[in-house]
Amino acid sequence: MEHQGLPRFLFNRLTSHDEPTLTNPLSDAVKEVFGSLGPLARSSPHFKPRAGQTAMAIAVADTVAEGGSLVVEAGTGVGKTFAYLVPALLSGERVLLSTATKTLQDQLFARDIPDLLAALGLPLRLAMLKGRGSYVCQQRLAMAQQAPTLPDRTSLRTLAQMQTWANTTRTGDLAEMPTLDERSPLIPLITSNRDNCLGSTCSFWKECHVNAARKEAMSADVVVINHHLFFADLAMREGGMAELLPSVRVVVFDEAHQLNETGIQFLGQQLGLGQMLDLARDILACGLQLAKGLADWQGVVGEFEKSLRDLRLLIGKHPPNTRLRWLAGYPQGIHPQDWGDAMLLLTQRSQGVLASLEVVADAAPEFVRLHERVSDIIGLIAHFSQECPAGSVRWLEVGAQARCMEAPLDIADVMQSRLLQTVVTVPDSQGNAVDLPRSWIFTSATLGDDERLSWFTEPCGLSQATVLRVESPFDYASQAWLYVPRDMVSPKDAQHSAAVGEVALQIARALGGRTLVLTTTSRALRAIGLQLQAALGETGDLEVLVQGESPKRQLMQRFRQAIEAGRQGCVLVATASFWEGFDVPGDALQAVVIDKLPFPPPNDPVVEARGQRLEAQGRSSFNDYFLPEAAVSLKQGAGRLIRRESDRGALVVCDNRLVSTGYGRRLLANLPPMHRVQTLPELLQALAGLTKTDTNSC
Ligand code: SF4
Repeated sequence: MEHQGLPRFLFNRLTSHDEPTLTNPLSDAVKEVFGSLGPLARSSPHFKPRAGQTAMAIAVADTVAEGGSLVVEAGTGVGKTFAYLVPALLSGERVLLSTATKTLQDQLFARDIPDLLAALGLPLRLAMLKGRGSYVCQQRLAMAQQAPTLPDRTSLRTLAQMQTWANTTRTGDLAEMPTLDERSPLIPLITSNRDNCLGSTCSFWKECHVNAARKEAMSADVVVINHHLFFADLAMREGGMAELLPSVRVVVFDEAHQLNETGIQFLGQQLGLGQMLDLARDILACGLQLAKGLADWQGVVGEFEKSLRDLRLLIGKHPPNTRLRWLAGYPQGIHPQDWGDAMLLLTQRSQGVLASLEVVADAAPEFVRLHERVSDIIGLIAHFSQECPAGSVRWLEVGAQARCMEAPLDIADVMQSRLLQTVVTVPDSQGNAVDLPRSWIFTSATLGDDERLSWFTEPCGLSQATVLRVESPFDYASQAWLYVPRDMVSPKDAQHSAAVGEVALQIARALGGRTLVLTTTSRALRAIGLQLQAALGETGDLEVLVQGESPKRQLMQRFRQAIEAGRQGCVLVATASFWEGFDVPGDALQAVVIDKLPFPPPNDPVVEARGQRLEAQGRSSFNDYFLPEAAVSLKQGAGRLIRRESDRGALVVCDNRLVSTGYGRRLLANLPPMHRVQTLPELLQALAGLTKTDTNSC
């Protein structure tokens, strides 16, 4: 791809017969953009040149020019988005940009990139590509309206509204349908997946939104995707990327800290009861609509469904998101004979369904795809009946439904063998094909606790990558206090959550809310949530929000808006994704209380297998895995506190292992350099000053 009037820096550099110059022209252009008289300064009165941002942008420019891999940890406030966007957009190369969340994907597509293109005066074509599940499938929407069973009585009306919207939408992106609840049970019925898409035999093929989005991406200069789509496509060549990637020379992963965990979800195998029940529903709907009387659909599908229900009963009741180890050929807690019998019955019932589908294979294209899906299920049952491959881990995930899961321990092999060494073939000025190395940029605010960022680079196969750490420009010593209660009971003590709740209560009262309590377990979340609601909420003093009561976006919005119009702030008790995805700049958040050092759960099958692999290599699983994991999570949790230069507040870690043990001091050294306070009265006094709008520093 060559943009009219734009330099193609790499191409010029690699094909030039002139003496090599010391500086890369792309870096020079980037320095100018970030200079005090550059286009960013001219387009925004708020822009200020920042040394860290410029250093990162130059490092990205060098990697774009030379090819290879660059890993950048850029602390909060560096301005990393523009630091990678400016060199990537100026390069004249085709760029693929991947984020962990759809929120950042939407923000880059709708705001950051258009703003930057306008400031730089670049006429580039931009496209966004999401996974299939984000677009309405016209074929499935039509089928759903004829379906014999629907989730509830209002479904038909909602489907009619969806049809009205589907008739007018250009993109088919469900995010554009304002009335649609993202948790609606109708969404799986009106979107496609790899299993149920009819492909080129579909009667809606020409107007299909999934196809249209892929075509648009193919002709764009910059394509914004997400990590899920990237790996789904890598695993199944199904997301449209297989056609896109060969012509892309610059790939940027933002929020790269999630890359490994996202990747392993797609690079293994899964067999879900929910997936099989969906299949049963699709077979019944198609059979009754398109081949009624040609097979006993109700009988054969009913038997298949019964074997699924029996299997679910055999697995038994467990708390949500339980992961059962699967070490000796069957999941923990299930008798091997019972498991084997259930799998055999499931295979036989699946074969019964397959036989019925064979009879009607010519009746409609839908049956060909259904036949493939049932065959895939039979193959997966056979796979899960054999031993787990070396380098992978297997477990049974149990929630409302259950899923047999298998995943590689990391993505290093795939990154090395299928991505990092690949080249892009482009024509030179004489029209001859030239192979150029691809440029891979990985960035996030937190990527490790050592100079090599081994926490990130090792599992991602990036040990040879160039690494850069750019410190946050914030003055933590004067913006933030750190308090570790010395007299706090041990985290193993049954009274620990109550003691954490007591500290959080005093802080919330001193601040008038404005407090985020981050817990390491769901049990602590419930206990502390109830304690704070009883002490603050019921008296009407302060609103106490607890994760799970509303969707995350709504909780964040309520928390942000709480101090508007002179109202009190509020308290939020949360766990898991809130450690890294909670972004509330300003006075609405002035304290973050963390209950315990966030070590990964040692009895989780994936965590356990990773630890065992390190020990088998003669390494320490504690030093090389558990500790770096805790360091990264702790820094992410602490990172919720200071989001901009004017923010001020306190981080309270209710686990005195942080200051009383050698490993705790390693974790402490990885946190930003905050001002330490030794006692709760000292902290409360400091916090009391915060609620006034003074400008004194800590
Ligand atoms: S081609 Fe697939 S995604 Fe597109 S409308 Fe048809 S079934 Fe749906």
